[in-house]
Parts: sequence; C-alpha cells; structure tokens
Amino acid sequence: MLVYWETTQACPLACRHCRASAMPMPHPLQLSYAAGERLLSDIASFGAPLPHLVLTGGDPLKRDRLFDLIASARDKGIKVSVTPAASPSLTKETFEQLKAAGVDSIALSLDGSTAALHDDIRQVPGTFDITLQAAKWAGEVGLPLQINTLVTDETASDLPAVFELVHSFPLMRWSLFFLIAVGRGQQLNELDPERAEELMHWIQKLVPRAPFQIKTTEAPSYRRVASETMKSLGMHADEVRKSSVHAGYGIRDGNGIVFVSHLGQVYPSGFLPLEAGNVRHKSLKEIYQNSEVFKRVRDVDNFEGKCGYCEFRRICGGSRARAYAHTGNPAGSDPICSYEPIREPAMA
Ligand code: SF4
Repeated sequence: MLVYWETTQACPLACRHCRASAMPMPHPLQLSYAAGERLLSDIASFGAPLPHLVLTGGDPLKRDRLFDLIASARDKGIKVSVTPAASPSLTKETFEQLKAAGVDSIALSLDGSTAALHDDIRQVPGTFDITLQAAKWAGEVGLPLQINTLVTDETASDLPAVFELVHSFPLMRWSLFFLIAVGRGQQLNELDPERAEELMHWIQKLVPRAPFQIKTTEAPSYRRVASETMKSLGMHADEVRKSSVHAGYGIRDGNGIVFVSHLGQVYPSGFLPLEAGNVRHKSLKEIYQNSEVFKRVRDVDNFEGKCGYCEFRRICGGSRARAYAHTGNPAGSDPICSYEPIREPAMA
C-alpha cells in the first residue's frame, strides 16, 4: 500500500501538468507538524505490512521540519520516499541528509530527452541540467532512484530517447505517468486509446532488456497488455508471479493507493479530486477502509461500462481518476483503454 502525502504545495517550479497547481509559498492552513505526527501514527495503525509513505508536494524540501517528520516515520517503522523538485535547493548535501535520515528512495521527474523539451514542460529553464546532476548525486550517495516521466501526445514520440538517456542513470525504476487532465494538466493532451495501446506494447517489449524496473502510473490497462503477452509466450504461473508487473495487480486509485492533501483532505489518488474525509477529523485508516468514496472505487463488480464486466477488472480495473476526469463518474470506464471485453451473458 502506498500513502502519498502532499506535505506542502509550495514549489519553485510551475510545471505545465502540475496536479497541485503548486504555488511559491505554502498555504497558511497546511497540516501543522502536530497534525503530521498524528497522520504518521494513523499510517502506523494500518499494521504490518506497513504502508510505504511517499512525501510529495509541491516541493517537499520546502516543507518545514521535513527531516523531523522523516525521523518520526522511520521511528514508527514506516519506509519513506521523497519526490523533490529539481530546484537549486537540491544539492548533494540534501541527498546526503536524506540518505542519513533513512529515506528509502527518491523520485525525480524527467519529461524530455533534451533541455528544450524538459524545461518547456517544467516551465523553468535549467531544470533539465539540475535533474541530470541530481540523478548523479543520488547514485553517489547510494539513494535508490526512480525517474518519473510524463506521457502525453506531446511527449510520447520522445520516450525512446528518454529511455536511452535514463540508461546512464543509477536507476532503480522508470515510471511512466499517463497524464490525467486535472490541475494545470488540463492544458496538455492525453494519448488517444490507439496510441496508448501501441505505447504499452512498446513498454512491454522494453522490460526484458532494461536494467531497471519499468512501471506505469494511471495506466492499469498495461497489466492487461503484459498479462496477455506473458500468456502468449507460454509463461508458467510462477514466472508470471515473479514478474514486476504482477506486484501491481489490483493496485489502483483507492485500492492500495491513498492521497492526503496539504490541507489533510483524503482522496483515492492525487489525480481523483473526490474528497473522502479529512485527517484532521478522522483517522486515515477509518477513511480508507470505510468511506463511501473508497468503497465505490474498490468495487470492481459495480463499475459501469466495459470496466464493470471486463475479465481483467480485478488485475486492472482502469484508472478511476481518468474515468472521473472524463465523465464525472469514478466508477465509469477508463477512456484510454482500447480493449473491448466480451460481455458475459446475464444469468437466467
Ligand atoms: S476495459 Fe477497463 S478493466 Fe478492462 S482492461 Fe480496459 S481499463 Fe482494464
């Protein structure tokens, strides 16, 4: 299970796809340190295996007492990852501090293979160079690194070049985030279903030759593509279970993923703005397990349209965030998926 906590919306960048529509300064009502401590205790109350905490933003490095929060999480046995923004605050010393604080891994964003392409998305010149330098430092200090890359119709043709570039990084994982048009991301275009399908097949072919894991974000139908490919190759069930994609089966917005905003609001993901409660008033565990919003996005048998009867719904289930962004219905079908499942005959 992954808990994403938007520690602050403060950020020096102004990325064109920013979900948070981040601002230069923190919101005056962002969760206090004491409220953050309570949230960490809530996370610990989930019990073993404890959720993995991802500290996001904005730029988490702009969050006051970030290192105290990391220490408190680690004391509770919670593993922590951090997703810093590529700003001049990101120094080698920062990485050394994160490493010394017991941070499990860091994630950086790289949305283009050249400075012109990446900086155009990030809207701040110089972020490409900072990202490349930061990736190098992560390797030098021994911090496992994930690179997040945005997938839109604007970036798709550059992805092979990004793949070649990230080969030079000391990389643990490459995560391809299929755009959800929320926040400032509404200015960009999602892939159409045919292009998305083509890209998922391309990713599937890359996996065996990549010296790092490759995953998709907000593209659970990739699991269908991977599963069908493994089946067509005659892979044994044990081999499928060992594949990296198998670990993500069934995980999607609200099911193994929960997002806590800088104001304490709880959502099934950072891209699905359907508030299920607030950690200022209720425990995260209570909201995650019992709120109507979360129950609805977990109930695959009651999804509407093809995701509701697709034979892959338990391992895929479609992006709830994209269904909501397009239709206003979090139980609708994921419009990026081109698959046409056969409707099972109704019981007599
Ligand atoms: S129809 Fe829905 S559940 Fe089936 S593969 Fe596509 S997105 Fe997944």
